[in-house]
Order: sequence, then structure tokens, then C-alpha cells
Amino acid sequence: MRVAIAGAGLAGLSCAKYLTDAGHTPIVLERSNVLGGKVAAWQDEDGDWYETGLHIFFGAYPNMLELFQELEIEDRLQWKEHSMIFNQPDNPGTYSRFDFPDLPAPLNGVMAILGNNEMLTWPEKISFGIGLVPAMIRGQQYVEEMDKYSWSEWMKKQNIPERVEKEVFIAMSKALNFINPDEISATILLTALNRFLQEKNGSKMAFLDGSPTERLCQPLVDYITARGGEVLLNTPLKEILLTEDHTVKGFAIRGLNGALEGVLTADAYVSAMPVDPLKLMLPEPWKELDCFQKLAGLEGVPVINLHLWFDHKLTEIDHLLFSRSPLLSVYADMSNTCKAYANPDRSMLELVLAPAKDWIGKSDEDIIAATMAELEKLFPNHFGTETSAKLLKYHIVKTPRSVYKATPGRQACRPDQRTPVANFYLAGDYTMQEYLGSMEGAVLSGKLTARAISADQQQTTNTSASLSAGNK
Ligand SMILES: Cc1cc2nc3c(=O)[nH]c(=O)nc-3n(C[C@H](O)[C@H](O)[C@H](O)COP(=O)(O)OP(=O)(O)OC[C@H]3O[C@@H](n4cnc5c(N)ncnc54)[C@H](O)[C@@H]3O)c2cc1C
Repeated sequence: MRVAIAGAGLAGLSCAKYLTDAGHTPIVLERSNVLGGKVAAWQDEDGDWYETGLHIFFGAYPNMLELFQELEIEDRLQWKEHSMIFNQPDNPGTYSRFDFPDLPAPLNGVMAILGNNEMLTWPEKISFGIGLVPAMIRGQQYVEEMDKYSWSEWMKKQNIPERVEKEVFIAMSKALNFINPDEISATILLTALNRFLQEKNGSKMAFLDGSPTERLCQPLVDYITARGGEVLLNTPLKEILLTEDHTVKGFAIRGLNGALEGVLTADAYVSAMPVDPLKLMLPEPWKELDCFQKLAGLEGVPVINLHLWFDHKLTEIDHLLFSRSPLLSVYADMSNTCKAYANPDRSMLELVLAPAKDWIGKSDEDIIAATMAELEKLFPNHFGTETSAKLLKYHIVKTPRSVYKATPGRQACRPDQRTPVANFYLAGDYTMQEYLGSMEGAVLSGKLTARAISADQQQTTNTSASLSAGNK
């Protein structure tokens, strides 16, 4: 069975991979000249990589970890110590850690929280623990019901002191969805906390050993093409063409750089594009269908990823850091954390700027000036002196619409991978799956889409077999 897929992000590539495993032939069309979508990366004239986002893989990503195993590339994940490390704004240049001991869950998480005395007092830890009891007892059903509240509202409802939010959850909220706790749905943080507390290695983090485009997406493409599939870059879907009964007749392709425009026909069609371009491309007759109408409630959130190369080393920490800065979210010295970017003498900081709505339209110069002012607080020993670290170069990648903005009520807007249109499916981190807008969510959505296509084809085959048997 031929399946046309628009979008070569992780969802589209995962869908194509699992379709080839089921014996089908996917043809993936990608608008850009680079694989990966939100994990795309580029090499500059010096050979240095810069990326759409600083990407962390968690122990609580079963589908992603299985994918690495299936591709036989699991050695490319560089696992770090099982800790979460936060900057201390009141004590610049110092860190506070949550260290998870080698014990079963949830004991290791409880010990990590109890062992940290810089960020939370004992009464705060106790009231937070009590606040979490309903989520622990009633599980995912409770977590989903809490989508009506923002995290700040939920914390208030549970009588958790405001300081807990300030100390820990502004940083977590910005890391998970690039927005603050007064905007983010309580479901997002409760889902993450549940995974982190219930799975022994759920919050353990790994960095990829190089650029996601080369080290993860390319092996996926090699796997797909070795099994008869195709992945075509610079090949944007222009229009979804319909038959008279409003199923898909073909994908019209826009010709780029002199390439011919054309129509790709297949037995089934998948949009693995982000929700924002899909909404713009919906054919008129589909717009009244509930599944597509509710997409209006989903919209990508802006975020900015920064890369700063310095003339000397700012830190030896080989881990993700939560900056707890109003401007920045998480960051890492990639010269320590990532094998392909390693440098024993010079730092390359990769930093996420969030919330970015007030910054996305600003000039690179303004963004760098504000970031450098924050770095003076994060690394006070390295700036403002005669031997200050010098910024050698930088790259800024702005994503005006990244993962869907997970404000309260969004869960109800997320569509299933199957649509009411018989031969049209959706894949993408925004589609309904239990891992929210993440790499794991994208990979899982692609897998679910491939499963739905195979199951539907099987059912059609069985129905026509029984019809023809009945006719004999
Ligand atoms: C700054 C940043 C940091 C992040 N950090 C993390 C992290 O630490 N951990 C984590 O798990 N997740 C993280 N994420 C989220 C993660 O990157 C995404 O959830 C995931 O990559 C989304 O994959 P996707 O395939 O659903 O969508 P996308 O990656 O957006 O892929 C969609 C693809 O469709 C293509 N496309 C669009 N229009 C067309 C068209 N007309 N024709 C053909 N193709 C088209 C796009 O070019 C793109 O390649 C981060 C994201 C960002 C931006």
C-alpha cells in the first residue's frame, strides 16, 4: 500500500518507519531542505551546528527509546547523572540540585525532593506532597480533569504556598511548554510529575551525541529508504485535492527552485505537518467536520533557541540547567554535554528563551544584549572583569509557532490520528496521545497513525474477502 505523508519531522518519519515495518511504501514530502522540523539543525561556515531547539530525551520516553533500539543507535544517547539542577537567582553563580538516588520509584523522587533544602522548606514540601495526593490516588483520569485549571489556579486550589511555584514551577513550566504557570494547563505539569515520580528513571535525562538531523533523522531516512520508502526534501505539499465524495484524490506539490509541480497519488494520505500550516490547508468541505473545527483551538507557541560560542570555559557542568531567569528557560554548555560539540577549552551555551512572545519580533542584537545581561548573573565570575569571557559568535533560531500552546482546555481540541475522512490521517505531537507536545509525543503519534492505517487496510481486505466469499 502506498502512503503519502506531508512532513519529515519526527512524527512523519516515525509514521513512515512503522509503515515500512508493516510492509507498506511511504513517500514523505518535506517542505524544507533539512530533515527534522522542530529538531532540524544546520552547520555554519565553520562547521559548527546550531539547532531549532535544545533537546532533552527522558527516561520516561518509552517509544523514543524503543525507536533508538530498533535503529540500533541507542549508544548515541548520552545519559547524564539522575539529577535536576537549578540556578539560584538569590545567590548568583550557585546551583541547587535534586539528586535521585538509585532506589525504586517513587522513593527515589521523594528522596530527591526531601534532600533539597535550598529551594523548599519542610512545610512547603509537606503541603506540596499533600496537594499531589489526589493525582497519585486517582491517576491519569484526575490529571485530565485538571485541564480546566492553569497550574497557578491548581496550586491555589490545593493550598500549596505560592513560593513553591516561584522556586520550582516557573522553571518547569517554561521548560515544558515555553509559557509561565499562570498560562499552562495543570494537566501538563501533573502528567510530567506523574511520569517523573512513578517511573524510576522517568526524569533521567540524555543528550543526543550530535545534531538530531544527522544522528536521529538520517538513520530513520536510511531505514525507510532501505525498505522501499522515499523521503523527498524541498517538496512542499501545496494543496489537498479531493474527490467528489470529499476523500483525498492526491497531494498537489509546489515546484521549488524550478522543479516541476505535480500531484502525488497514493492509497492513504497523512498530514504530519504542524497544526498551524494544516489549518491553513484544510479543504473547504472539511471545515465543518468537528475533528477539524476544533483545531482552531490549537496554536503554536513562540520560542527562541540561542547558541553562544565563548573564548573560554564558563562551566564544567555536564547537564541541563534550569536558569530560573525571567528571560531564559533551560540551557546547557554543549561543549560538555554533547560529544560532537565537545571542546575542552571553550564553552558553547545553548539556551532557550521563553516566554518569547515579546522577543520573537526583536532584532538579534537586542536578544543577544538581553541574554548577555542574564549570563552576567548566571556566571558572575566570568563577566565584568578584565578577563571576562568574550563572545566569539552566535546563532539565533526563532520559531514563531512551535509546539501547541498548552493552556487550559486544549486537551479537548487535540484530534485523533484517524479522521472522519476515510483515506486521510493525522500525525504530529499535537494529535491525541499521552505524551503532550514533545519528541516522544511526535514519535508515538507517528506509530499510532501507522497502526491505524494498517488496521484499516486489513479491515478493508477482510471485508472484501468476505464479500467475495459471500458472492460465490
Ligand atoms: C526550542 C525547542 C525545544 C524543545 N525541546 C524539547 C525537549 O527538550 N524534549 C522534547 O521531547 N521535545 C522538545 N521540543 C519539542 C519537539 O521538538 C517537538 O514536539 C517535535 O519535534 C515535533 O515533531 P512533529 O513531527 O510533530 O512536528 P515538526 O517537527 O514541526 O514537523 C513537521 C514537519 O512538517 C513540515 N511541513 C510543514 N508544512 C509543510 C508542507 N506544506 N509540506 C511538506 N512539509 C511541511 C515542516 O517543515 C516539518 O519538517 C522542543 C521544541 C523546540 C522548538
